[in-house]
Amino acid sequence: MSAEGRTGILGGRFDPIHLGHLGTADVARRVLALDRVLLLPSRVSPHRGPHAHATDSDRLALVTLAASSDAHLSPCDLELASDAPSYTSVTLERLADQGHRRTQLFFIVGADAFADIATWHHYPAVLDGAHFVVVSRPGHPAADLVETLPDLRARMQPLTRGSERLHVDATSAPAVFLIDAVTPDISSTDIRERVARGAPLAGLVPANVAAYIKHHRLYETRHLSRATS
Ligand code: ATP
Ligand code: MG
Repeated sequence: MSAEGRTGILGGRFDPIHLGHLGTADVARRVLALDRVLLLPSRVSPHRGPHAHATDSDRLALVTLAASSDAHLSPCDLELASDAPSYTSVTLERLADQGHRRTQLFFIVGADAFADIATWHHYPAVLDGAHFVVVSRPGHPAADLVETLPDLRARMQPLTRGSERLHVDATSAPAVFLIDAVTPDISSTDIRERVARGAPLAGLVPANVAAYIKHHRLYETRHLSRATS
């Protein structure tokens, strides 16, 4: 992976990856003129909820399929390949060790997830590890974070699509960019529920992702029946 140019990183459970994630990556890439976006599945602790979840290797396979149709996207197994818990601060440190300059790294996160930033490991120092790009999600406007996270107001910069080729120079302090954009109203939770009840996934995930889910029988009700037997 090249360390030249601007690199976006979209982290998530991706259980499974869906078109909302891809829309988010695309918006961030365009607005901040990123050269590439890494899709970084996080480790997930064993889950005993009502719906079956996918293994680490299946989630990585799904991310790899989703990235295959867009030359700007690559899968990144940095967190899955490590035995340590997935902490963004540690991941950003490791990317810096690989030669990425922090001012060229853009950690992309949905506004719902960023609302909990104060609970993240190494907060607030984690915010110095890269620029953060917070993208709205249906029901979660990014602009509202200026009010709800007043401690971060000084580093927040609201952006719009017209900000393409914005020049955040390499020496500038790490910022929190806020982007309000329309992204598909999709969640992995909803997808898992749909699979469990046999509903189609058309329009929610790329076709090759849907085919993999079906072929490997992911998210069917194995755990549910085990839990109730
Ligand atoms: P789950 O329902 O299992 O929580 P999810 O759809 O929220 O899944 P995650 O893997 O939790 O997906 O999300 C990864 C990242 O992508 C998070 O930063 C999240 O805010 C962001 N994200 C997910 N879906 C969207 C969407 N439709 N629009 C914008 N951002 C999204
Ligand atoms: Mg989520």
